[in-house]
Amino acid sequence: MPKATTCKLGNRIVSIEDALLLRAGAARWRRPVPEFSCHECNERVRPHKKGTTGQAAHFEHRTRSPGCSQSA
Ligand SMILES: [Zn+2]
Repeated sequence: MPKATTCKLGNRIVSIEDALLLRAGAARWRRPVPEFSCHECNERVRPHKKGTTGQAAHFEHRTRSPGCSQSA
């Protein structure tokens, strides 16, 4: 399965590492989590940290997006 490692934040492209930092920063300062969206289909996506099973950090669509190559 392709795993997305970049997404859009407004009209910027951000990496998964940046997204995780932004989310952590938002939580720390009790700010709303930025709205990340897929750069292919524009659906909302959520950043996921690297898993303990060796899965790399990646973005996941909040809802499955048929036709998007970045949606698992
Ligand atoms: Zn997508």
